[in-house]
Amino acid sequence: MGKVIGIDLGTTNSCVSVVENGQPIIIPSSTGSRTTPSVVGFSKKGETFIGETAKRQAITNPDRTISSIKREMGTNWKKKIDKTVYKPQMISALVLGQLKKDAEKYLGEPVTDAVITVPAYFNDVQRQATKDAGTIAGLNVLRMINEPTSAALSYGLDHGESQKVMVYDLGGGTFDVSIIDISEGNIEVMATSGDNMLGGDDFDNRIVNWVVDEFARSNGVNLSKDFAAMQRIKEAAEQAKKELSASDAADINLPYIVQEKGQPVHLNMRITRQQFEQMTRDLVERTEPPVRRAMSDAGVTNRDLSKVLLVGGSTRMPAVQEKVRNLTGLEPSKNINPDECVALGAAVLGSTLTGNALISAGTGQSLILFDITPYSLAIETVGGIATRLIERNSPIPTRFAKVFTTAHPYQPAVDINVLQGEGPMAADNKSIGQFRLGGIRRAPAGVPQIEVTFDINTDGILEVTAKDLDTGQFQSITITAEDRMSDREIEKAKKSTQILLEDKGK
Ligand code: AMP
Repeated sequence: MGKVIGIDLGTTNSCVSVVENGQPIIIPSSTGSRTTPSVVGFSKKGETFIGETAKRQAITNPDRTISSIKREMGTNWKKKIDKTVYKPQMISALVLGQLKKDAEKYLGEPVTDAVITVPAYFNDVQRQATKDAGTIAGLNVLRMINEPTSAALSYGLDHGESQKVMVYDLGGGTFDVSIIDISEGNIEVMATSGDNMLGGDDFDNRIVNWVVDEFARSNGVNLSKDFAAMQRIKEAAEQAKKELSASDAADINLPYIVQEKGQPVHLNMRITRQQFEQMTRDLVERTEPPVRRAMSDAGVTNRDLSKVLLVGGSTRMPAVQEKVRNLTGLEPSKNINPDECVALGAAVLGSTLTGNALISAGTGQSLILFDITPYSLAIETVGGIATRLIERNSPIPTRFAKVFTTAHPYQPAVDINVLQGEGPMAADNKSIGQFRLGGIRRAPAGVPQIEVTFDINTDGILEVTAKDLDTGQFQSITITAEDRMSDREIEKAKKSTQILLEDKGK
């Protein structure tokens, strides 16, 4: 078996790592940086740009450039460029394919096996989409691991002592918080919570909106419909945000932002950290309920926590660090790199999957890893009730079976509606799959015995089976959204992705 790479497929940036001489290291990109922007661009001439080059051409090619695709994973987002209709899996596959190529160049050997990280809060459909992206990229996805678990894994390597740790991960597009128990060689996720739609992009957008409003007020020009101008403002807003993590004010200078009556107009603004913190306070506050929920689910209070690990570039914002301090009463740990630790942990797991023991550098003990399912899973039963089979935060892999019966006399079939969420009624939850089990032997209501089994594998992917215990008839589905790509579609996308990646290499 060749080397296994660990990939942090981020909203804004991605990162790839491998274990060499027993230590995980970051593989530099072809341009020499340690992370690769998760951006893909298609030129009008038919070239494909991925990563740094895609980000750079975004300004001049905004409507053919795709970024933050992670937010769309598992949705039916589509974009037609020239003759091809791209789905989120295909765009992510291009990013993954680039990381694979970078790793092959660095290692000087072909790479196929990978561990890919996903936000702990990703649901089944989003996980499937990520796995499909890996397949399209020509990767054999050995395992998917939750990002906070991965961070703790890289952390656990350096510090072996028993402890309960909070991983607070605010990246480009998602927020995750997990409570992790590291003890006697085990790393166990006790609880996890988060917000799929909260991240650094939202902070950038607040600055963008402020710039557009200010510009309209002082110049009477609405820039919001000007693609190229908006792209430049977006980039400058992110830059200003980053500067504000270290200084009290940042300047946004964009010469020639627009032409008015044949004359160039420049954009010059100054934003203070105080202004920025005011306009984004509610975003920082939105991290509080998930933190409280994760703590209460794990049954821990501040006193039980010995460390808070900050993951994701957005945790560099002082207001975020202050919030974490207030919530936990702890000074966040600064000795791990928030941009790299997730990929490092994935490489560590990858190495153990090829038979290398996962050893804690602190204690010299081998580590065992547990992951959990982020949502409760149920089926709909009579009266629209959600009957739970698997509680949220159950360790995975897991399997649970329960016997149900029919509600009507001589019912020939039962419809299984699989639900995800915490509500008591079916309508309060998200329906993630439906199927019918037919061929039930004719019998009065309440006589047939239908066994429903939920099986969650180590990737967090759910398979549901319904079996008539009388006839032995059964039906099963791997839960997929209606927009999940079929195997044929994946195969087709794989071919075209390889062509795009090869063209790039010329
Ligand atoms: P990640 O998804 O972990 O790569 O996080 C990327 C996000 O972190 C992006 O929204 C970046 O703008 C943000 N970020 C990176 N560095 C900083 C910084 N110094 N201050 C504030 N945000 C940052």
